Amino acid sequence: MAKYVCDACGYVYDPAVGDPDNGIAPGTSFAALPEDWTCPECGASKDMFSPQ
Ligand SMILES: [Zn+2]
Repeated sequence: MAKYVCDACGYVYDPAVGDPDNGIAPGTSFAALPEDWTCPECGASKDMFSPQ
């Protein structure tokens, strides 16, 4: 699964890791994230992310 990078702060979403602090289990693809998920570093919305 593809990693996605936050255009605002450079945070990388790695599907293998997920975002456990925000209830996202490891193995969750970027496309499967809730539409209201935001960057855990800066709060940017999903549409601010680009494939790495
Ligand atoms: Zn960010």
